[in-house]
Amino acid sequence: MTRTPKPSHVAPDTRIYERRESVVRSYARAMPRQFNRAESVWMYDGNGGRYLDFLSGCSTLNYGHNHPILKQALLDYVAADGIAHGLDLHTDAKQRFLETFERVILKPRNLDYRVMFTGPTGTNAVEAAIKLARKITGREMVIAFTNGFHGMTLGALACTGNASKRSGAGVPLSHVSHEPYDGYYGPDVDTAALLDQRLSDPSSGLDAPAAILVETVQGEGGVNAASPEWLRAIAKIARRHGALLIVDDVQAGCGRTGGFFSFEDMGIAPDIVTMAKSLSGMGLPFALTLFRPEHDRWGPGEHNGTFRGNNHAFITAEAALRHFWSSDAFASDVERRGRLLGNRLDRIAGEMGLSTRGRGMMRGIDMGSGELAAAVTSACFERGLIIETSGAHDEIVKVLAPLVIEDEVLSAGLDILDQCIREAVAPALGVAAE
Ligand code: PMP
Repeated sequence: MTRTPKPSHVAPDTRIYERRESVVRSYARAMPRQFNRAESVWMYDGNGGRYLDFLSGCSTLNYGHNHPILKQALLDYVAADGIAHGLDLHTDAKQRFLETFERVILKPRNLDYRVMFTGPTGTNAVEAAIKLARKITGREMVIAFTNGFHGMTLGALACTGNASKRSGAGVPLSHVSHEPYDGYYGPDVDTAALLDQRLSDPSSGLDAPAAILVETVQGEGGVNAASPEWLRAIAKIARRHGALLIVDDVQAGCGRTGGFFSFEDMGIAPDIVTMAKSLSGMGLPFALTLFRPEHDRWGPGEHNGTFRGNNHAFITAEAALRHFWSSDAFASDVERRGRLLGNRLDRIAGEMGLSTRGRGMMRGIDMGSGELAAAVTSACFERGLIIETSGAHDEIVKVLAPLVIEDEVLSAGLDILDQCIREAVAPALGVAAE
């Protein structure tokens, strides 16, 4: 079994991209290869290059690329002329998905959520969530958090903190207040208490919110993991002030932090949950907004969309639920592997005077500056490791390896990361990189 990357160093012919593709493209700039195949944790280019994927389509490929069981389910379905696109018509694929989701995910967790099929991206699920919260409460304002990331459509973008993303809006982004996330002012300031104080003070200027929208681990905003105590306090604050609690599980869900939902061990029960990315398990677009039955106050078609019936995604999602989530074994293995990852990152960071972030298989190292982090990720890429940055200044090197990665392969990837961090940091410390 192959354990190590083998990058090619042949730059692809990019003329068609430069001539025709919008300059808005981003990942392709940092990883200038042309990929043509992918399997499990590996991506291949057309020049014999093999890359270890520590990005996983930004946590869209938690079960790896082209997982054989998911792939076979899709191949069988397509071969039998199964419905590909079905608006929101009842189909066999959709029935199977809903029944398995109920049996494998909701019932064992004692969760009673209605399932709303939104447009197929994370931002669609967030739009539906905040629209529903506003409709139910009759309030306009949503509380989101510093460093939060929720998507690029206007409603979700208004909830996103990042200035460069916000600047693309072209209109005022309003009706959202960005409050300090857990740890924003350092470990000694209880930002949940500050929020409660502001919401309780009739003269604070903060309007009563329709919803509090939170990521339990901030994926794009720097892999900041909120503590269970803080999340419980936020849930209580939402209830006390008549707001709905929305957990955006688009990136942290589907096992990334261990459980299917990232909030499972946090002692909270959100009113609304958004999911996308790894839901289909194969990179097929598919998003959901989940909410308590009493909040299902939509009129038929009131929130609509053409691509709410990606039946191919229902097929692979159902296969993923059955294969990975029918018992606790997968979640336990992810938790165990997450601890391995955490220990190794803590060791690397400790030796270099850096700090780590995150939980489960969603972790990162704070390089202190975007320049250093970019130096690390591009050195990793030259050695065949695909890895990205996150955070307000892109200063966090973020590990989002597929959850199915073997320990030895994870370790081989982390060896590369370790070496590249040493080489980037050594000159600043005035020591040899070894
Ligand atoms: N919410 C979170 C937490 C995300 O990480 C993202 C994407 N990075 C989104 C929403 C938006 O998802 P999409 O890009 O599929 O619209």
